[in-house]
Amino acid sequence: MPSYRAPVDDTLFLLNDVLQLQRYGNLKGFADVSPDVTGQILAEAGKLCEEAFAPLNQSGDATGCKRGADGSVTAPAGFKAAYQAYAGGGWISLPVPEEYGGQGLPYTLSMAMNEFASSANMAFAMYPGLTQGALAALLTHGSEEQKKLYAPKMAEGRWSGTMNLTEPQCGTDLGLLTTKAVPRGDGTYSITGQKIFISAGEHDLAENIVHFVLARAEGAPAGVKGISLFIVPKIVPGADGSLGARNGVSCGSIEEKMGIHGNATCVMNYDGAQGFLIGEENRGLNAMFVMMNEARLGVAVQGLAQSEVAYQNALAYAKERLQGRALTGPKYPDKKADPIIVHPDIRRMLLEIKAFNEAARGLALAAALDSDVAHRSGDPAARQAAEDRLGLMTPVLKGMLTDVGFENAVKAQQVFGGHGYIREWGMEQFVRDARIAMIYEGANGIQALDLVGRKLPREGGRAIMAFFKESAELLGAHGANEAMKPYVVPAQSALGDLQKASMWLMQNAMAKPDNAGAASYDYMHLLGRVALALMWVRIAAAAMEKKAREPETAALMDAKLVTARFYMERMLPETALRLARIVAGADTMMSLAPEMF
Ligand SMILES: Cc1cc2nc3c(=O)[nH]c(=O)nc-3n(C[C@H](O)[C@H](O)[C@H](O)COP(=O)(O)OP(=O)(O)OC[C@H]3O[C@@H](n4cnc5c(N)ncnc54)[C@H](O)[C@@H]3O)c2cc1C
Repeated sequence: MPSYRAPVDDTLFLLNDVLQLQRYGNLKGFADVSPDVTGQILAEAGKLCEEAFAPLNQSGDATGCKRGADGSVTAPAGFKAAYQAYAGGGWISLPVPEEYGGQGLPYTLSMAMNEFASSANMAFAMYPGLTQGALAALLTHGSEEQKKLYAPKMAEGRWSGTMNLTEPQCGTDLGLLTTKAVPRGDGTYSITGQKIFISAGEHDLAENIVHFVLARAEGAPAGVKGISLFIVPKIVPGADGSLGARNGVSCGSIEEKMGIHGNATCVMNYDGAQGFLIGEENRGLNAMFVMMNEARLGVAVQGLAQSEVAYQNALAYAKERLQGRALTGPKYPDKKADPIIVHPDIRRMLLEIKAFNEAARGLALAAALDSDVAHRSGDPAARQAAEDRLGLMTPVLKGMLTDVGFENAVKAQQVFGGHGYIREWGMEQFVRDARIAMIYEGANGIQALDLVGRKLPREGGRAIMAFFKESAELLGAHGANEAMKPYVVPAQSALGDLQKASMWLMQNAMAKPDNAGAASYDYMHLLGRVALALMWVRIAAAAMEKKAREPETAALMDAKLVTARFYMERMLPETALRLARIVAGADTMMSLAPEMF
């Protein structure tokens, strides 16, 4: 059976020493979390994930969710108690403002919990995760009355949330959606249509489910300009929050799928269900984007989370499994063979995963911190800068963390040899579960297009120009320090590749959109690799300082420095490959007619 230890110490190092959370004490909710309190919160989060959620991961995968003849859905055994522990522990309400029943603490801490919970049990963590995304959309775009009615119950976990975009004929292209919303004359709407692939669409964990549904109001324009967002509760509440009548929404079936079997992926049928408009008619996509952006970061972290738990198990296996001898002669002559961790190729795989995980965690936490600044800072310039960074980095993190997260789950499986293919070890489940994160919440190709087509050109390229400026400042601040050169010099060179790629796009994409489309995936990964390198520069600088200040941490900090060097020497050179592909342009790719494939 696989095991899991939440990386609490590593997360605390990132929060306290690298991102220096204590500098943000002026943000609402941050003054309450001293490093000690943060430590206690994360230790508690880690314990819950290790003890309550991880033990249900394999059993939930084996049994999956069951749909009864009446359309009710039962989550795997143990999920209900686990959900109550999650909600009861205040983990959903943690970042929600106090006036809506929350604790008003930093979202950054939620991000850490999301990672731990997704490593422990990704299918389970999606139930509260979707509720958090739905809450974000409600709090940004809902009316005061809607917020007061729904938010406290959702923050408590008594009511869960879903997002309903996809229909059989409408996936990426939301303009094709046909679910109808007809005014009832009392300010509410009748919603009719079918949604597919709806995560946590029906289950027995919460007493009510609040569906956030995209639909087209009668007479609305075609395409994305005619989409509105509705709240459609499974049970319609009275104004006082008491549960009323069952609404006309039901689960038609549960999708049979490759992984995350513990999460009910439902076909949802809306049959004249009562819906309540959020925001204005035809502005639904705008409101849903809040939820989607939140969810994209959540999905990014799912990639990291599967990479982390797969790594931990591969590392333990590599230290125990005896096969062959070290190339330089036996390292453990008293044993029949050496543990496989002596082999350079095993180390390559382990270090590639480790070097990714530790910096990717830093990027995910930094993005969450930007979200906190964007929502809570009193300084408009700081808010704007954080929003720009977050907008730029969200598609990059979604695309890169889930692509590499999946590759890493496969790599960790490889460390197990044939045993990685055998169900009992749990490695094949990590591979199956990690795979979906590349697809949903906007397939990764769409993230790349969002980055190149929308995020880069926005406001005359303000976000990417700020990224270049901040990167140059970071590298400049450490460039004169001899000890930092092994990190700063390669990062500088990779940043140069990114600048060249950005310049090429500016010169070649406007007149010829296929050049942008053909370059987008490599550009997303190129930017991601540079961001990881810059995070490693920050980690290396923090590690050197910490080692000097607290000599007892020397071994841990030295491991960080070696891992940073590994990243720079063996992983970062990928930026040159990405640049070469980008500047190759679209001509060859687009010249093959469909019938010539
Ligand atoms: C397990 C699971 C859970 C899900 N949960 C939810 C949920 O809770 N709520 C919800 O609403 N949906 C959910 N989805 C749906 C998911 O978000 C969609 O599957 C996804 O957005 C892609 O849509 P599609 O499957 O229709 O693929 P398509 O849109 O048909 O895309 C097929 C391929 O074409 C590419 N493509 C499409 N358009 C373009 C373009 N313009 N340019 C370049 N490439 C393009 C895509 O990247 C993709 O690779 C879930 C799906 C699964 C499998």
